[in-house]
Amino acid sequence: MAKHQYQTEIGQLLHLMTHSLYSNREIFLRELVSNSSDALDKFNYLRLTKDEFKEQDWNPKINIKIDKDDNSLTISDNGIGMNEEDLIQNLGTIAKSGTKAFIEQLTGDSKKDNNLIGQFGVGFYSVFMVANVVDVISKKAGDEKAWKFSSDGTGEYEINPVVKDEHGTVIYIKLKDDAKEFLDSFRVKEVVKKYSDHIAYPIFLHYEEEERVGEGDEAKTEIVKKSEQINEAKALWTLPKSELKKEDYIEFYSTLWHDSQEPLSYLHNKVEGSLEYTTLFYIPNTAPADIFRADFQAGVKLYVKRVFITDEEKELLPLYLRFVRGIIDSEDLPLNVSREILQENRILANIRQSSVKKILNAIKRLDDDKFKQFIEQYNKLIKEGIFTDHVNKETLLEIVRYKSSKVEGLISLDDYMKRAGEREGETKKEIFYIIGDDENLLRHSPLLEAYKKADIEVLIMDDKEIDEIVTPAIGEYKEWKLVDIATVEAPEVENEEELKELNESFSQLIEKIKGILGEEVKDVKVTTRLSQSPSCVVPDSSDPMASMRHIFRQMGQEEPELPLILEINPEHEMIKKLQELKDDNTFKESVWVLLDSAKLAEGLEVKDKGAFARRVSNLLSKAL
Ligand code: ADP
Ligand code: MG
Repeated sequence: MAKHQYQTEIGQLLHLMTHSLYSNREIFLRELVSNSSDALDKFNYLRLTKDEFKEQDWNPKINIKIDKDDNSLTISDNGIGMNEEDLIQNLGTIAKSGTKAFIEQLTGDSKKDNNLIGQFGVGFYSVFMVANVVDVISKKAGDEKAWKFSSDGTGEYEINPVVKDEHGTVIYIKLKDDAKEFLDSFRVKEVVKKYSDHIAYPIFLHYEEEERVGEGDEAKTEIVKKSEQINEAKALWTLPKSELKKEDYIEFYSTLWHDSQEPLSYLHNKVEGSLEYTTLFYIPNTAPADIFRADFQAGVKLYVKRVFITDEEKELLPLYLRFVRGIIDSEDLPLNVSREILQENRILANIRQSSVKKILNAIKRLDDDKFKQFIEQYNKLIKEGIFTDHVNKETLLEIVRYKSSKVEGLISLDDYMKRAGEREGETKKEIFYIIGDDENLLRHSPLLEAYKKADIEVLIMDDKEIDEIVTPAIGEYKEWKLVDIATVEAPEVENEEELKELNESFSQLIEKIKGILGEEVKDVKVTTRLSQSPSCVVPDSSDPMASMRHIFRQMGQEEPELPLILEINPEHEMIKKLQELKDDNTFKESVWVLLDSAKLAEGLEVKDKGAFARRVSNLLSKAL
């Protein structure tokens, strides 16, 4: 006897499963059947690609046997099977990020946790919702030895050698007292029909039934053995669209991708011509939990002539579409495509290209509510696409949404252009934006004031990490130039004359300020773009480094800091007072506060925070 300890996380999961009051226990059947189907896929692939398996019989089947006397249910397949090591690896440990993420989210509150179970595929372990004891008897294709894994769902399991003829796996389930409903053939049929109708392999149910035989006095009840196929056994995507209903698509989706929420959209296409292939794609209602993890799971499965090839290839679609779930089934690829070949394969590149177009079109066609949900979940990824997918950049720019200085909620670039185009006397085609990581700070940025004054809309981009890289790379959209307001002169600088005069009449003050700030700023100027604030800082866009900044960001390097220009507002009380101030020390303190508070308003670091606080309180106490 060989005893093993479950990995800690599994212990947690098992505890939850065995103590779960989860109402949807029937999904254990869906999980076991889907595992059998995967195992058959894998064996089929071996048989078709590896010489040593060529001669093996191929009569794929999943059997479900009900034994009322024994209180047991047995699910078996003649798929690839597992050896001792596989059993430990696959059933005794958790390797997958999805499952790990699931366990991390468990709260210990059974109501919430049960909801989570519904959303995640917890696979094999779900069997412990209905089982007292589970035996997994398995023989790996090509091996001599077979093994039995036994567990009662507590901290330990056992693995022992056994004898088994055919390769494949048998799962024997001793049902809990309160799970007897699964001894009822109608109930089992119902569940299989519901979740597994379109599994590509036939599922047979074997059970015994009492039947009246004979007539009149001769009549008696006999126990009759029955066996029947209980699913359609056709891969759903191979059926013509006209035969399929919305429910069929949604059931198929929830079975394969373990998502109980209805997807936002699905698209099913059969392409014939120089290339032949079928695609079926889904856009999940909620972004899969691992979408921003480096080890996210691929969402699209590749088939060749209905033979499963892989569900681990992450670039069947471009990476920014990694939330899409679906199937690509090609008639033209060779069965033994290797990973390396896949990545450069022209057939796949072609399929990928037209698939992206279809998916983006489906997104554009979503109704208002669904589109809103889509943006909530995936706007970041669309931005990623704008940066990486040059072919579809324009379409992605139609889809992406931003916050705005003018309206609540999110707007499209087209909304912006429409509004700007309606503005009187507007001829320049420019889309203004400001970037930072705090929406509130951005909305109150001194840089915005002049635009508000001039009634010009500015996009508020508060997804700094992404926007900072993506937006400068957009350049133009439908002939409109995207302009960062931190890099240009404010609008309606009344006129050059006036500004020149102002700067001259303030030249003494400006020189004095420069003398105090020294190297801290590159220049000091009078501006008319401010109304509420006494000052603001802008990066010097004429500096040769300015155009290099986004290159540094793309390389993931710390970008060089640009020299700052301090701009002062001649209309502001504080500036007016400064001009008349006699006390040198107070003047000096005030100038530093002017610079530091302008920096803070832009979300920039203030070099000496202590000194800043001291100065502010000194000034305040004088004023009081
Ligand atoms: P998942 O199916 O999502 O990988 P499961 O918990 O359902 O997670 O199964 C864990 C692993 O156990 C599978 O990935 C597979 O390798 C193995 N496994 C489960 N059932 C079978 C089976 N009937 N035949 C072969 N391998 C199986
Ligand atoms: Mg599974």
